[in-house]
Amino acid sequence: MSIQKTPERNSILFVWLNNYAGILLKTPTKTLAIDPVDVKAKNFKNIDAILITHEHYDHLDPPLITEIQKTTDCVVIADVASAKKLQLAIPQKKLHVIKPGMEIKIGEVTVKAEKSNHPAQAPVTYIITSEDQIKVYHTADSLPFPELAKMAQKESFDVVFCTVGIAPGASPQTGFEIAWLTKPEIAVPYHTATVASQKEFGEMLKKELPRTACLIPEQNKIYQVSKRK
Ligand SMILES: [Zn+2]
Repeated sequence: MSIQKTPERNSILFVWLNNYAGILLKTPTKTLAIDPVDVKAKNFKNIDAILITHEHYDHLDPPLITEIQKTTDCVVIADVASAKKLQLAIPQKKLHVIKPGMEIKIGEVTVKAEKSNHPAQAPVTYIITSEDQIKVYHTADSLPFPELAKMAQKESFDVVFCTVGIAPGASPQTGFEIAWLTKPEIAVPYHTATVASQKEFGEMLKKELPRTACLIPEQNKIYQVSKRK
């Protein structure tokens, strides 16, 4: 999966890649793949960075990452546990370990790690700020946690990806609670194999959080999100 076109100014493009938290994100200058699994490495030709949130099989596929890294020479940003599993395969100067509170620049794009409420070894969530200051929050498999509200006040998110299934404890309700706490312009339900759970999430949003738009993505389709003027 690659995104041929370049987003306009003040926009980003994204593609949902699998039943989990796999996202391809393109800003005007950079392309990031987050938690790519169940995809073909050869379809990823222009990647600047791969971001990994935690070591579970549905988020981390070391051979796949090794292959993408080799063909694109991208950097790999990973939580402590995932980085350990990648360190023999990825050149040292290309592998960056990240912990909650840390920030890494990819050109003009900023990647900041925050905590994740998920039973993995050292899981993180990612706030990605584009060169136009579009704020995307990839919450990986996280369940809601109270600090999200404060974080959201500080960041004012444009897009938040919300897990609505598959992960332990995750449901449309917990996904909705993430949206409720973060109050983005657009909330995107993912990490599920059923459209029904995405729609259930959408219904809750419409009723309880009408100012946040719900974007129900289909896999492998390109979506553009623009900053509200
Ligand atoms: Zn997962």
